[in-house]
Parts: sequence; structure tokens; C-alpha cells
Amino acid sequence: MVLRSYPAAVVFDLDYTLWPCWCDTHVIAPFNVVSKREVVDRYGFSLSFYRDVESIILELAENDVVIIGASRTATPHIAKELLTLLHIGDKPAIKYFHSLQWGQGSKTKHISKAAKDLGLQSELKAGLFVLFDDEMRNRDVRSINCYFAHVEDENTGLTRRVFANGLKDWSTYLESSQAKV
Ligand SMILES: [Mg+2]
Repeated sequence: MVLRSYPAAVVFDLDYTLWPCWCDTHVIAPFNVVSKREVVDRYGFSLSFYRDVESIILELAENDVVIIGASRTATPHIAKELLTLLHIGDKPAIKYFHSLQWGQGSKTKHISKAAKDLGLQSELKAGLFVLFDDEMRNRDVRSINCYFAHVEDENTGLTRRVFANGLKDWSTYLESSQAKV
């Protein structure tokens, strides 16, 4: 049995997982850059990532974990602009994503497409993908063997606790599924 501390790929939803808004309805361009960590929309709505997002993305990047975005947003261009304006470390956040997948419908499509584009289909099949998402309906990604980690609280989004628990539960799940083989 191979014990792994990180999945091969971590998939993030955007709205209410990485930032506290629906980017297709709550924010309106143009955006003013207040700092590398904050933008303000046309009506003065201030937007940043949830507090722990930066250190989580940096940790994954340092450990060579593939980072994927999967969003059902109707305005991918707004999401991309926000990911470009908001920085993580000294780079635009968008630079940390190996793949960004958009569109309505099940995230099984988003994740299958990303795995195919990145040559990670066998890793997906082996249970080495984890999705962090606030919407329970997206747990259908389990049908393609992507582990679903729920982001429960929209006030805090993706926190260190949610992240650590998600990876711990995934690791336990992976061990038990490998034990059955
Ligand atoms: Mg969401």
C-alpha cells in the first residue's frame, strides 16, 4: 500500500470556496486594484480570497500538486480577471492553476476534461483527485473517483481546517479502498 500525503491533483471550485461571492452576479466590472490582495468592483464591493487560500495554494505548489479550477460560473471572463488581479505570493493567482474548466452542468465533465488535458487520467481513476467545493450537488464527482471535500461555511470558505480534514479523510478513504483490492 502506498501512503500519500497529497493527492496528485486538487480541484477547487471558485465561488464560496476560494472567494466570498458569486462572480457572475455579485461583482460588476470594472475593477480597481487596491492591492495585490484586494480588488474593488464598480460599486465599491471589496473582494479578496478567503484568508487561508493563499497559504494552501502555496503549500500545494511547493509540493508539486497539480491545481485545477472548476467553476459553473456564467462569466468565466470575470473569474479569469479576478484570478489575474488577485495575487498569491508574488504572482497572479491564475499562474498557479494547471487547468481551468468552465461551464454549466456536472463537474464530472470539468474534471474529466482537465485530467485528459493534463495526462492524469490514470491518477483520476486511482482516486488521486480531490475536489473542494461548497455545493453538495457537486459530490457527484465521486462517480469518476474524484474525492469530494465539502466546504461548509460560506463565511470562512476554504480554511486550513477544511483543507486538512479534507486531505485526512481522502487519505483514509484511499487506504480503505486500496485495502479492498
Ligand atoms: Mg461554489
